[in-house]
Amino acid sequence: MKYAILSDVHANLEALRAVLDDAESRADGVLCLGDTVGYGADPEACVELLASRARGIVAGNHEWGVADRLDLAWFNRWARAAAEWTRERLDDDHRDWLAALPLSLEFGDATLVHASPSRPDEWDYLVTAEDGWGAFADFPTRWCFVGHSHVPGVWSLGSSGPDHDPRPETVLSEPGRRYIVNVGSVGQPRDRDPRAAYGLWDVEAGRVDIRRIVYDIDEARRKIEAAGLPRFLADRLAAGA
Ligand code: ZN
Repeated sequence: MKYAILSDVHANLEALRAVLDDAESRADGVLCLGDTVGYGADPEACVELLASRARGIVAGNHEWGVADRLDLAWFNRWARAAAEWTRERLDDDHRDWLAALPLSLEFGDATLVHASPSRPDEWDYLVTAEDGWGAFADFPTRWCFVGHSHVPGVWSLGSSGPDHDPRPETVLSEPGRRYIVNVGSVGQPRDRDPRAAYGLWDVEAGRVDIRRIVYDIDEARRKIEAAGLPRFLADRLAAGA
């Protein structure tokens, strides 16, 4: 089995469609790590697409913000403006659906969580080598897939010691090792590569590829500006930062 693992779609329908198209012939199913809404102009369409397509999906901090489970004072001003706009845009059914998503989920030999498996509701970022290594005691499975930082990364731990790859393209697992993989962001990459990112997990081969997909950034930017969302949110898509 192969799964497309998507995180941080952030209401960017152009990026989501491009990723689902790419995954169509490669993956048997879709998993989603949260932050489906916030920042972009198409929250309803992205929620509906993923609600119908994803076999497993967890909540991110933007779902919690929109669903009133997290104080928006926690957000920076762009995230807050986007969350307020998104709240108005979604109806009760969409908001209830987002509010009911679990914080983490075990799917086969993987744990799915938006930020960190250690206290998922604290929304800690895994960025440094030590951040990731410190989280291995807090999930029971061999794999843990995360998003949140919008930057791909891989941490692993095994008898030959800890390892960290801050710019992964392919992860080939070794016997006896466990892995935390950040699959990057579909809808708002921040690693200076503006292409959409997602992970393709081949369960039997023990392999994860971080794929980068070209999409219509100009259209996504145009919609953000037309919606009256902060212009910065449009500009950062082109910069991938
Ligand atoms: Zn995010």
